[in-house]
Amino acid sequence: MPRPIQATISLDSLRHNLARARTAAGGARVWAVVKANAYGHGIERAFPALRAADGFALLDLAEAETLRALGWGGPILLLEGCFSLDDLATCERLNLWHVVHDTAQIHWLASRRKARAHRVFLKFNSGMNRLGFEPQHYRAAWQRLQELPAVGAVSHMTHFASADGAEGIDDALERFQSAVDGLPGERSLCNSAALLRYGRDAQPPRRDAAAVLGDWVRPGIALYGASPTGLASDVRRWGLRPAMSLRTRIIGVQTIEPGSAVGYGGLFRAERAMRIGVAAVGYADGYPRHAPTGTPIVVDGVRTQVIGRVSMDMVTVDLDPVRAAGRAADIGSPVLCWGQHVDAELGIDEVAEAAGTLGYELMCALARRVPVQLE
Ligand SMILES: *Cc1c(COP(=O)(O)O)cnc(C)c1O
Repeated sequence: MPRPIQATISLDSLRHNLARARTAAGGARVWAVVKANAYGHGIERAFPALRAADGFALLDLAEAETLRALGWGGPILLLEGCFSLDDLATCERLNLWHVVHDTAQIHWLASRRKARAHRVFLKFNSGMNRLGFEPQHYRAAWQRLQELPAVGAVSHMTHFASADGAEGIDDALERFQSAVDGLPGERSLCNSAALLRYGRDAQPPRRDAAAVLGDWVRPGIALYGASPTGLASDVRRWGLRPAMSLRTRIIGVQTIEPGSAVGYGGLFRAERAMRIGVAAVGYADGYPRHAPTGTPIVVDGVRTQVIGRVSMDMVTVDLDPVRAAGRAADIGSPVLCWGQHVDAELGIDEVAEAAGTLGYELMCALARRVPVQLE
């Protein structure tokens, strides 16, 4: 029997979340962001569910090639643009749209000869100070692109630094609007957080929702059913469904005396006699090593907690709450690390929060050794 760990990807959940994003987007077109191998879900696996999107956004040229090989003939956007002059030839061959965020990329474009071969999204730095042109250089960059024979339509884009936080998007939005004011071209602004917090369903409603949504929105994490804010309550409030579940089984059971230590470093010490279980999942599977005692985990449909230190291949869990609920809590009992199983649900955001990270990191870290099944 193979080791009992298994990840599952729900195509229905992906479809549902994409439809949910489309509703929030009003009439704007939707890029399905599938960078990092569809946030760990697998581009090939997610593709049948996400092909109802208007386009795919990613940053790895090999992943773009994969989408073309899967038969996707629609738009593909490279979110970080080209990394070298050579990449422009790949963009022409695969018909990839690409972000222009630096003058070096404009120089490369100037050397291409094929008329109007490049559809580009000029990136405005609205305050994140990562990629993009500063307000004082934006229009000159736009003008220069207009004059290049190899460049076709030029769209405008920005990425919010704080769409998921208390600061919100107002200042960044204002900077973007004044930079692009009067310029022709499509606009793209929203990641998942901006889309869900400030789009058509914004609470309170925004009069400028149409300007926030622009022509294209770029949801990533929402498609996979986790929250950009890290709050599991937002996943429920927005009606998203978890796409990834990580399931395993109990492979060992111990009954320990009060005062006994558990795991490496004896980090957990029992205050009472306890029945504990060993689940076949560890950090080499992508379970976060920093998940402390108290991290929620579900055994036999009953919510309990991780105890002691997470090791490479195993996690120890408290079986007493499971027993108290009348379940066997024995070798072979099913364990849900995150996602859903039968009637149980455990948000990846809850596990991430306990481990001091976000659902993004956990899903992207799903290890290659974990078998994945579609459902
Ligand atoms: C990753 C990314 C997104 C998607 O972000 P989510 O928070 O996952 O919705 C959108 N735009 C850009 C530029 C990105 O890099």
